[in-house]
Amino acid sequence: NESNLHAEVLVLGGGPGGYTAAFRAADLGKQVVIVERYPVLGGVCLNVGCIPSKALLHMAQIVHEAQEFSGHGVDFGAPKFDLDKIRSWKDSVTKGLNNGLDGLVKQRKITRIQGNGSFVSENQLQVDNENGTQLISFDQAIIAAGSEPTKIPAFPNDDPRLWDSTGALQLREIPEKLLIVGGGIIGLEMATVYHALGSKISVVELMDQIIPGCDKDLVRPLHNRIKKQYEAIWTETRVTAIEALEEGLKVSFEGDKAPESEIFDAVLVAVGRRPNGKKLGAENAGIQVTEQGFIEVDKQQRTNIPHIYAIGDIVGNPMLAHKAAYEGKIAAEVIAGHKAAFDALTIPSVAYTDPEIAWMGLTENQAKEQGIEIDKGVFPWAASGRSLSMGRSEGMTKVICDKETGRILGAGIVGPHAGDLIAEAVLALEMGADAEDVALTIHPHPTLSETFAFASEVVAGTITDLY
Ligand code: FAD
Repeated sequence: NESNLHAEVLVLGGGPGGYTAAFRAADLGKQVVIVERYPVLGGVCLNVGCIPSKALLHMAQIVHEAQEFSGHGVDFGAPKFDLDKIRSWKDSVTKGLNNGLDGLVKQRKITRIQGNGSFVSENQLQVDNENGTQLISFDQAIIAAGSEPTKIPAFPNDDPRLWDSTGALQLREIPEKLLIVGGGIIGLEMATVYHALGSKISVVELMDQIIPGCDKDLVRPLHNRIKKQYEAIWTETRVTAIEALEEGLKVSFEGDKAPESEIFDAVLVAVGRRPNGKKLGAENAGIQVTEQGFIEVDKQQRTNIPHIYAIGDIVGNPMLAHKAAYEGKIAAEVIAGHKAAFDALTIPSVAYTDPEIAWMGLTENQAKEQGIEIDKGVFPWAASGRSLSMGRSEGMTKVICDKETGRILGAGIVGPHAGDLIAEAVLALEMGADAEDVALTIHPHPTLSETFAFASEVVAGTITDLY
């Protein structure tokens, strides 16, 4: 059952990196074939990542806001959960976007092949599916095969009570006691969801803070809030063993602050993601893959084989959808003969927790490590009329500028909608703005966006210790 197909541009993987690359290449006049092992496009992000998690986080936000507003004259009563309905709502969000992608593929006359792709030479990919094997030859290829959750081999990975992020998003049950292993973004987002559903949450993190890599002052408002909501947050603590017992999963810990071993109804392991580089027959095409499974690329997304490109999670950190899509466009443009290269100054990070935390550019920690002299402007949201109108006062906006020139080097925001607000700071950095440029820009009142202008005014010296 072997048929032959040729592609000017072959894209391996239909996630945000792959479909963006395929669309851009087709728009630039290339004949494109996209290979995806699943029947749906969208990859991890759309099917088991960014989008379903945000749909569930929206549900969590409604629950929390209703609970918190009950002290202010509107009582909604205790929430009742119908998991089947919540799940179908979440699935409908994903399905709508899947259908949208299908339409965009058809519109561009991109050939779509379902199956597991593996290189057989530097100009051929073999695709296996239930109907057999198909060989696709190509002039140029873009690898966008993504990543998968890291599994810890010693844990009882076959036990249905041990979840990865995909399992947690399936919303099969509401465990009474849920342990989150890994206090990073994905773990804490799922903690937010299950806390809203009524689970008792504990978090264990190896490093000395949750969301490692982010400045401590930005993490503190989140830590202080969830400390009150959750059973425990154990930092500098390692899980040494998980034992499957009939009554639950018995977890043992190690570290100075480690608790006694404890039984949980479910455990979510969110300790990072592993690139899929070693599963593609890359060696048959001569593509170098690192020990960890990453494929190294240059600024034009080119691998060591000049007509094969790679983008997204498989080329390295940060493993984020907006980075994958940006790289996808570059690869497609380079293939089409454009003088394109990865030259973004920063890739913003967002934890969609409650409060959200967003940061971009230089962090204060990095400035210290690299000996860069900075000026810092901080605006506490306790002085923001809009934030107080939302019943929230714990947020803050911080801008980090070059001490000499005032040029914006970084920014961090913690508070509701921080993820949306950080975009202005990214634009300011990309445009080479000074704190004064932002300070002189009229921001609408009363909005949370004003807090970035006020923090910039602190650096520009147009407001002093008013707050
Ligand atoms: P992927 O999305 O992993 O897509 C790769 C595709 O390739 C998959 O569809 C896979 O099936 C296919 N594939 C792999 N190997 C083969 C093969 N051999 N043959 C055929 N097909 C193959 N990022 C954000 O920016 N914002 C968020 O809010 C966010 N939330 C997240 C929440 C969760 C729970 C998780 C797990 C991730 C989240 N991410 C988020 C990360 C984001 O999902 C990834 O960075 C993004 O999906 C990477 O895109 P990609 O195109 O590189 O790869």
